[in-house]
Amino acid sequence: MSEETKSVPEMFGCLVFNDSVMRERLPKDIYRAVRKTIQRGSHLELEVANSVAAIMKNWAIEHGATHFTHWFQPMTGLTAEKHDSFISPEPTGGVIMEFSGKELVKGEPDASSFPSGGLRATFEARGYTAWDPSSPAFIKDGSLYIPTAFCSYGGQALDKKTPLLRSMETINREAVKVLHLLGKTEVNRIDITVGAEQEYFLIDKDLYKKRKDLLLTGRTLIGAAAPKGQEMEDHYFGVLKPKVASFMHDLDEELWKLGVPAKTKHNEVAPAQHELAPVFETANVAVDHNQLTMEIMKKIADKHNFACLLHEKPFEGVNGSGKHDNWSIVTDTGENLLKPGKTPEENRIFMVFLLAVISAVDDYADLMRISVATAGNDHRLGANEAPPAVISIFVGDELAAQLKSLEEGTDFVSSEKKQMGIARVLPHFTQDNTDRNRTSPFAFTGNKFEFRMPGSSLSISDPNVVLNTAVADALRNIYEALENVSEDKFEEELDKLLKKLLKEHKKVIFNGNGYTDEWIEEAERRGLYNLVSLPDAMPHLLDEKNISLFERHRIFTKEELSSRYEIFLENYVKTIHIESLAMQEMVRKDFTAGLVKYMKDITVEALDKKRFSPNMKCTYEERIISTLDDTSERICTQLDVLKADTRKAEAMTDTLETAHFYHDTILKDMEELRKAVDKAEAIIPDGYLPYPTYGDILFSLR
Ligand code: ADP
Ligand code: MG
Repeated sequence: MSEETKSVPEMFGCLVFNDSVMRERLPKDIYRAVRKTIQRGSHLELEVANSVAAIMKNWAIEHGATHFTHWFQPMTGLTAEKHDSFISPEPTGGVIMEFSGKELVKGEPDASSFPSGGLRATFEARGYTAWDPSSPAFIKDGSLYIPTAFCSYGGQALDKKTPLLRSMETINREAVKVLHLLGKTEVNRIDITVGAEQEYFLIDKDLYKKRKDLLLTGRTLIGAAAPKGQEMEDHYFGVLKPKVASFMHDLDEELWKLGVPAKTKHNEVAPAQHELAPVFETANVAVDHNQLTMEIMKKIADKHNFACLLHEKPFEGVNGSGKHDNWSIVTDTGENLLKPGKTPEENRIFMVFLLAVISAVDDYADLMRISVATAGNDHRLGANEAPPAVISIFVGDELAAQLKSLEEGTDFVSSEKKQMGIARVLPHFTQDNTDRNRTSPFAFTGNKFEFRMPGSSLSISDPNVVLNTAVADALRNIYEALENVSEDKFEEELDKLLKKLLKEHKKVIFNGNGYTDEWIEEAERRGLYNLVSLPDAMPHLLDEKNISLFERHRIFTKEELSSRYEIFLENYVKTIHIESLAMQEMVRKDFTAGLVKYMKDITVEALDKKRFSPNMKCTYEERIISTLDDTSERICTQLDVLKADTRKAEAMTDTLETAHFYHDTILKDMEELRKAVDKAEAIIPDGYLPYPTYGDILFSLR
């Protein structure tokens, strides 16, 4: 059947070597061995791997693949791949198609050019990739993609997946111990579930190509505001324009074929901004699928003559893009541990896990902030649109009341759920008791937490590594406090412990408006972190308590953390450095060409008028010329300042100091230059500028 005529259920996962394909094609004992490896992370015998590889290869060839690739996620935050064909030459001059178990489970890419933050000494430049059988292989562009983790020969993590898998194992271990202590002995395993809502901008590709800033840095570095922005609130959930709808349709289909459960799509707040949300999956699969989603978005956009912008802040003055990381815990018996129970007995487990999350987020708020720190995301956090840089937890009225009764030792009575009864014809539904506070960076939303700080281009691996590890640690503390308590004292001690945890950590709970200055002051009084920029936040990665957390749970060694610290700072410095150069070039060449030409034309015009009649006042022309002349002077001066400061930055050697310099000086220089340029740009007619303006880009799509 051709792919075009497939129904959605037939289409979904048709390019994925998923469980049903394995069950159908693998011999029973081999299938069981693979399942065991997936569920318990146990070692896979080479014999088994050989058998899986042969069957996988045949399946891949049937689906048009000629190559295979180990697909991994280096510290660039992107995905990486190197393709090998299945062909193996025969003495007869022909070829056969081969793929061994060894090739399936292990790859050895020459990894010397990936960021390692000094981890990999040059004498052992090679790293290796190891199959992650818990994330299914799939076919894309004629290759079989095998999801893998990427390590150095010494076993150090060089990627974003290795620590994620480690953290999932850790939280599994700690959560199961606590569950057993609480009497839930039927649970053998928990999984972390993640659903990542993805925001993006879609703009005309021809316009995109004309802007050096977008091409080189992903965001506009100059550009006067269009007369209209997002103030009319007419885009959010608005009717999809036909071209956008057609893009979204193709995007959904492509994602479904790859087994990515794309679920909802809608227009977002800013003009030209949209969102896609998938159904949640196990954390590592969700991370892989989010990486794929971003890639496929760009690819399909290109086919539709769009450019898909994933930068956190592509345009000044309208909302930037984020990615909500929805996070929960599910048992192998199918229970969501963050779902409030109906009875006090059921609720006891919920309260334990809730308080574990609250303590974890309070103790490791600095790590949570670091996990979403990038040069791009710094433009959002605290900029009155995304959550502030201060981490706090929103729990909603119902849960706040429940926590209060825990603290005071009173019986909790659920507030009468109000019947909303919007209209007779609509079915009655009860009011959502997790009232939506969009200003909170970390919100409880009914049966999961929603971490709203990640930027739109970020791999969601890091935030989930931090959450998993910090919550695992809190669960371990709970376990250790209770493991030796006798049965008759257990409930009393548990109650005492929960009260103590609440008392210690309730300072991180905040249900008000996170966008106000009062909250920032209040947060400081409460002793919460307010790490405004990446250079402010990053040194905390190496705080003793954080190194100790990661080492205690074997997520990162101190060396691995130091290497990550270096990489994050270097990325930040490089990003702003490129922005500075791109801005200088765009202003000097593209903008100046328009400015000079317009000034000349308008001067000639004024001279012509005066020649025609010396009494002509030429007020308008003179005012424009005088404004542009003044502004040109400011632009020249600012350009020189930016250039000189950038030179200074290039000569600096200490990475942290350099990062601070980029934040405190270069970004400020760029802001000053932009102010002057935007002032002039607002006067110059669009036709003079060799690049499209904000108005063109944000409102020209039909
Ligand atoms: P919104 O936040 O836009 O109002 P929803 O709350 O319905 O939308 O869901 C947002 C995301 O949360 C979706 O990607 C969904 O799959 C995910 N989600 C829902 N339940 C869970 C869960 N138990 N664990 C992880 N993610 C979840
Ligand atoms: Mg959401």
